[in-house]
Amino acid sequence: MDLDRIYNFSAGPSMLPRSVLREAREELISYGETGCSVMEMSHRSKPFMEIHEQAKSDLRDIMNIPDGYTVLFLQGGASLQFDMIPLNLAREGDVACYAVTGQFAKKAREEAQKYLKVETVFDGETENYARVPLITADMLNKNARYLHITGNNTIFGTQYRNLPECGDIPLVADWSSAILGRTIDVSKHSLIYAGAQKNMGIAGLTVVIIKNSMISTELPDSVPAMLRYDLMAKNDSMYNTPPCYSIYLAGLMFKWVKRMGGVQGLQAINEQKAKELYEYLDNSKLFTPSAEKSSRSIMNVTFTLPSPELTAEFLKTAEECGMINLKGHRAVGGCRASIYNAMPIEGVRKLINVMQAFELGKA
Ligand SMILES: *Cc1c(COP(=O)(O)O)cnc(C)c1O
Repeated sequence: MDLDRIYNFSAGPSMLPRSVLREAREELISYGETGCSVMEMSHRSKPFMEIHEQAKSDLRDIMNIPDGYTVLFLQGGASLQFDMIPLNLAREGDVACYAVTGQFAKKAREEAQKYLKVETVFDGETENYARVPLITADMLNKNARYLHITGNNTIFGTQYRNLPECGDIPLVADWSSAILGRTIDVSKHSLIYAGAQKNMGIAGLTVVIIKNSMISTELPDSVPAMLRYDLMAKNDSMYNTPPCYSIYLAGLMFKWVKRMGGVQGLQAINEQKAKELYEYLDNSKLFTPSAEKSSRSIMNVTFTLPSPELTAEFLKTAEECGMINLKGHRAVGGCRASIYNAMPIEGVRKLINVMQAFELGKA
C-alpha cells in the first residue's frame, strides 16, 4: 500500500506525524545505547526517568506553563478526569458549575452528579450542540468550587474562542482535542486535562496540568489512592507504573511541535487548514457545515449531506481516494474531518478537491 496516499481523518486515536513514527521505529528495539526497548525498561531506570523529565519540561516549554502548576502524566483517559475532578476539587454537598456543550461535557456532568451538586450553566442539547456559550461571571453560582468546560467538542465540531469570564471561580477545562493545536492561556485555568490520543500521541496517557493551590491533601478516606492528585503529584506521576511508552511517544510529539515552530506555528497552519475547508463548505450547495460560525472548531470540522445515501456514497468515494475515517460520530451521523496537528495542509486540500468533484458529479 502506498502510505503517502492515505490521509487519516480519525478523531482519535488519530494520525501521527510520519517523522515521529519513523523515530519511534528507529528506537523500537533498542533505545539509544541501552540495548532494550522503552517498552522493556523499568520506569525507575535512568533512561526512562530522563525520558519522563524531558517530556515534562518540553511540555512546559511549548505550552508556556507558569511556575505554580504541576504536570501529571496519568492513565484512565480523559474520562477518568470526569471523576477525579469532583473527587479532588470539592466535597460532598458542594456546588460546581458545568457547561454542557457536547457528549463528553454531558458525561463529565453525569459523573460529577455522583459526588456533588451540579448547576448547569448552559445546555446545548436541544440545539444539537451547534454552539458554545459566552460565559460570564454573573452566570455562575458564587459558591461554586469550579466551572467545568469542554474546550473543544470533538463530536460536534465546536470550540471556545473566548474563555469564560469566571471571576474568582476556578476554571477547569477538557482540552483533549485541541491541546497543542492552538495556544491556550494556562494561567487562566486552574486545571487542564487531555487524553493524548487526539493531538499529543497515543492512547494510554492523560495529561493533567493543575494549579498547585488546587491540589488538596485533605480528602475523605473513601477517595481511592489512584484517584488522588496529591499522591500523584508527590510521587511525580510514579505512584505506580506510568504508561511508559505513551509518555515516550508524547515526548517525541513535543519535540516535533518545537520543530514545527511551536504551538503558535502549528496554530497558524491549523487556522489556514480550517479556513479553506469552511470556505468551501460555506459555498457548497451539497455539503452543509454543522456548527455555528462563531463556535467552529479548527480541529474537528463537521458537515452533512442531504441524505444518508449521499453520505454513504461520499464516504465511499473519499475512501477510494485514500481519505479514511471521515464518518461522523455514531451518535450524530454525517461527516467529520478531524484535522489535528499531524494532518498536513495537502490532506485538507485533497479533501476539498474530492468534495468539489463529488459535488460537481451531483449537480
Ligand atoms: C476523546 C475525548 C474524551 C474521552 O477521552 P478518553 O481518553 O477516551 O477517556 C473526553 N473529552 C474529549 C473532549 C474528547 O475528545
